[in-house]
Amino acid sequence: MSIVEKYDQQLKPCPFCGGKARLFDNFYGSGNYGSGSNIAIECRDCKLQMNGKDTSWMDLEDCTAQIRDIVTKWNRRA
Ligand SMILES: [Zn+2]
Repeated sequence: MSIVEKYDQQLKPCPFCGGKARLFDNFYGSGNYGSGSNIAIECRDCKLQMNGKDTSWMDLEDCTAQIRDIVTKWNRRA
């Protein structure tokens, strides 16, 4: 099980609609700010989205801290 999958299971439902949320590695395409990825949480139903910091250059440990951070924030709002 990947770290993302592990934390995905700890997500509380969406604070607005009560829908199921998902945690994912959000890769974005190239643009003015280049390309990269960040950790994001999205409600499968209403598409409410919460984005974490850019994790493109983070090592696994920092990345895991980011995941933990955003999951905590989401669960606090839920
Ligand atoms: Zn929702």
